[in-house]
Amino acid sequence: MSKNLVIIGSGYVGLVSGACFAELGHNVLCVDKDPSKIKALQAGQIPIYEPNLQELVASNSAAGRLRFSTELDLNGADAVFLAVGTPTNPETNNADLTYLFAAAREVKAALKKHALIVTKSTVPVGTGAKLKEIFGSSASIASNPEFLREGSALGDFMQPDRIVCGADNQESIDLLHEIYAPLNATILFTTIATAELTKYAANAMLATRVGFINEMADLCELTGADILQLSHAVGLDKRIGAQFLQAGPGVGGSCFPKDTRALAAQALEYGVKSNIIEGVVKSNIEHQERVAARIIAKIGAGTVAIFGLTFKANTDDMREAPALVIIPKLQAAGINVKAYDPQGMHEAGKLLDDVEFCKTAEYAAYEADAIVILTEWDEFKKLDYAALTPKQKRIFDTRNILASNPPQGFDYHGLGR
Ligand code: NAD
Repeated sequence: MSKNLVIIGSGYVGLVSGACFAELGHNVLCVDKDPSKIKALQAGQIPIYEPNLQELVASNSAAGRLRFSTELDLNGADAVFLAVGTPTNPETNNADLTYLFAAAREVKAALKKHALIVTKSTVPVGTGAKLKEIFGSSASIASNPEFLREGSALGDFMQPDRIVCGADNQESIDLLHEIYAPLNATILFTTIATAELTKYAANAMLATRVGFINEMADLCELTGADILQLSHAVGLDKRIGAQFLQAGPGVGGSCFPKDTRALAAQALEYGVKSNIIEGVVKSNIEHQERVAARIIAKIGAGTVAIFGLTFKANTDDMREAPALVIIPKLQAAGINVKAYDPQGMHEAGKLLDDVEFCKTAEYAAYEADAIVILTEWDEFKKLDYAALTPKQKRIFDTRNILASNPPQGFDYHGLGR
């Protein structure tokens, strides 16, 4: 049966969740305090790049199931999902809950009747308990952390490995069941604290795997071993598995770096020193520095064409992208940087200085002394490298996307090989 849902925050998570909930048949109001975002969405424009999201928003808006507003209208709302940002608090390294608690207070003030308040944002364990203090008896509180990945967010939402819901009364459990029923997915009901901590544990485990294989890549490079052969051989062990064993320029994005920092900080608050997670955070910083140093050592001076700026392919998200660490290091070594990214240049322009942004990969490569691939966009896999006109035919491929078929005539370096 369709429910009335309100989503607070229409960013990567709120917008995808809102559109997908509407697709499941619910009536959804997506709220954001950013008027330019809402104006764009009302006009059918999507403020982020996420494959197939435009079509999903358009069809559900046309069907009248999906609306956008800056106004918090909670009339008839069965559940309110909080999907605002929880960035790093630089003083504590834990999540900054300013936006979340501000949104919660606005919701409390606008509530017309008892509703279920569901936290979709990634929040430290114990946040649900604080929300209970804010809402008192006016609402029930639940935690429903989101596991979608940018770039494949719609598929992840619609075919989840599992849905985790932390709830503490039967009415909340029944409502969450009804909301997710059309997905026919595995729903795990846990305590609120468990749901909150599960999200951090999952992200920390994934970041650990990537951090580990990145360290192995560094070691491969020094020892003459090959990271692609090693990842394959290690990943065939069923206890380990092959996923998230691809070496690259470092872990980035809006989640893994901030969530590992936050988990380590939370552990310390409870008197537990998390040696593993602290190590993952440190290892990632050092790996990015080593990748930059290796590029500098191989290239020396001149102009580099950077292919790819976003932290991974199929998103425009530049948050904590390795490019933001590696490019300034190249520049500090006296290397000029030209760059091309299919979706990330607008955002990268705000975050990087003295980079010449080019409208195609061909323009970026023109008269460059080397090409450095930082993001695994399909476009770079399919590019006609023979048609490029760099000054020197050198490629440093930090994603190993061309490893199986390195372009003819290029001096080709992969990562960890
Ligand atoms: P985002 O920055 O893209 O979006 C947050 C939105 O919330 C912004 O548009 C902002 O204007 C809006 N907002 C803030 N305060 C508001 C308020 N009081 N009322 C209305 N709108 C408000 O963030 P995101 O990437 O969607 O992440 C949101 C949460 O989801 C974070 O906790 C994040 O860790 C978590 N998460 C993100 C991803 C991801 O891939 N991005 C995946 C899983 C979980």
